[in-house]
Amino acid sequence: MLITAQKIHNGINWLPEGACLSIAADGRVEDILYPPHTGQAIVYDGIITPGFVNAHCHLELSHLKGVIPEHTGLMGFLEKIPFIRNDYSEQTKYEARKQALQSMIDGGIVAVGDISNATDTIDVKESSPIHFHTFVESFGFNGMTADVAFNQALSVAENYEALSRSPKAQSRLNYSITPHAPYSVSQALFAKIDAYKDASLLSIHNQECEDEDLFFKHKTGGVNNLLQTFKIDASSFEPSGKSSLQTYMEYLNPAHQYLFVHNTYTQNEDINYIKAKQIKHFWCLCPGANLYIENTMPNVMRLKHSNVDICLGTDSLTSNHQLSILHEMCLLKHHNPDLAWEDLIRYATWNGASALRMNDIIGSIEAGKKPGILLLSNIDNLNDLTVKRLF
Ligand SMILES: [Zn+2]
Repeated sequence: MLITAQKIHNGINWLPEGACLSIAADGRVEDILYPPHTGQAIVYDGIITPGFVNAHCHLELSHLKGVIPEHTGLMGFLEKIPFIRNDYSEQTKYEARKQALQSMIDGGIVAVGDISNATDTIDVKESSPIHFHTFVESFGFNGMTADVAFNQALSVAENYEALSRSPKAQSRLNYSITPHAPYSVSQALFAKIDAYKDASLLSIHNQECEDEDLFFKHKTGGVNNLLQTFKIDASSFEPSGKSSLQTYMEYLNPAHQYLFVHNTYTQNEDINYIKAKQIKHFWCLCPGANLYIENTMPNVMRLKHSNVDICLGTDSLTSNHQLSILHEMCLLKHHNPDLAWEDLIRYATWNGASALRMNDIIGSIEAGKKPGILLLSNIDNLNDLTVKRLF
């Protein structure tokens, strides 16, 4: 089938005017054609793009939608989660994650970077038509118990290893073991995660609140209270005098590929520090969650002007009203009118696919790929902007 629209974004940039896509019935891109070879193409009203990638989600927290009020601040938010996440029946949790997955499919998402502390989501992933990279998350700030913390993650990871080879799977289901956040992982545990697999994909919640850097620079601020709440002894922790990012990156091998998530308090000196390391890395922004928890916005223009790779995530339904990459794009555009759609669509497609190491199969409209084909309508009016899956 031949299709075209007012504009086509191939995941990296706009295609020249007049481009048409030849798409097979199963959604595979056969060719990109230009006049006079375009014949009787179906002309859609709007913008054609590849499928979206949600680079940061916690599908296993879907049943907590609306449970935690907005604007608690991150420390208040994290104090609540462990005490409420298991107060629900298995059936309730299952229905919630199934519905959340379906909403992502309907919203044009074709791959998800999903944080998992447990094996709850394996059932919906195994039958999912969309791809997943599961980040099995490890945490524990007490260095004395790093073995216990890591072995817990390892036992969860074994199940995702089996899932990645499941004959029932219809999609790519990769996994890696990853640290939760700088203030919830000891140096000893960072070392274990680092050594687990060479050049693995690491994701970390980074500089999501002001307290994080205060803790690493001066050992002050709300992280101390959070650790006290969980009865974690931080007496042996010595502040480095540097930002969290510039501290923990000294514990990790530059051969990994990194996904820094949130970055609402990341400064130019942090970005320059990472750039100087010449490591493969992506900055994942989740503005919906930042507004929900901290009532802040990430500084997307600072990252854009630093010429680094940005991708997008929704975070979980515990900290967002929906799992919609389109909505995240709209939030960034609303707060940064100068941010071009050409850039935003690249963040939502090619960059996300590259951040999850899936750009060999999705993320761009190229012959031979099956990236999902979306139609965005009413792009000039953020309130009416919609997405529809064409393939
Ligand atoms: Zn998160």
